[in-house]
Amino acid sequence: MSQAPAYKRILLKLSGEALMGGDSYGINRATIEQIVSQVKEVVDMGVQVGVVVGGGNIFRGVSQAASGMDRATADYMGMMATVMNALALKDAMERIGIVARVQSALTMQQVAEPYVRGKAMQYLEEGKVVIFGAGTGNPFFTTDTAAALRGMEMNVDIMLKATNVDGVYTDDPKKNPEAVRYQTLTFDEAISRNLKVMDATAFALCRDQNLNIKVFSIFRNGALRRVVLGEDEGTLVHC
Ligand code: UDP
Repeated sequence: MSQAPAYKRILLKLSGEALMGGDSYGINRATIEQIVSQVKEVVDMGVQVGVVVGGGNIFRGVSQAASGMDRATADYMGMMATVMNALALKDAMERIGIVARVQSALTMQQVAEPYVRGKAMQYLEEGKVVIFGAGTGNPFFTTDTAAALRGMEMNVDIMLKATNVDGVYTDDPKKNPEAVRYQTLTFDEAISRNLKVMDATAFALCRDQNLNIKVFSIFRNGALRRVVLGEDEGTLVHC
């Protein structure tokens, strides 16, 4: 008999960089295909999936602001970059038979539905993947915060933060070969050990609302499936 998933509904946070693969900009076709095939594995297990995607592979407001641009304007551009990624993800999902919808926090009627909580919940219940674009819709925030917010609004069982490192380590594993991955951590331990799991606003929201976070690498084949089955993959940050 096949194993039952540990979670019924998940929110997957994908950074823009996750879509770049080995490229220095934009969307790498093989990488996006690898990611959506992992999503399909868990959709086929009956797990309801919401996705928040970043935009750092195309445009990051804060770095443009640092070079002289008005921060709010730069952030709106960053949010639009996330919608481009959301559309690319939807396209890649539909090619392999996932039914997906894009909801945007900024209204752009011709390209995406507006974010409507009830509608998004309905899609999830119908087994459709909902991709949330345009972050929170507000400048000065990040898509990590959008993921925490949408995760809480969708009443998900867990937030899955996909990174290129397979969890939270005692030190930077790229610089320190002695660094060890934490299997689990409490929110308080992450704070006291000064471990960066998500940006501070997102982290505080998850902590306040008891939304556990699993940090894992989406680049390991089958990783999302193993996370959803509750196996020892990545790091679980819990209350
Ligand atoms: N952004 C924003 N408000 C939000 C989410 C994102 O202004 O609620 C902008 C911000 O400029 C950010 C960019 O969109 O730099 C891309 O998002 P993020 O940096 O979170 O993407 P990631 O690092 O996940 O690729």
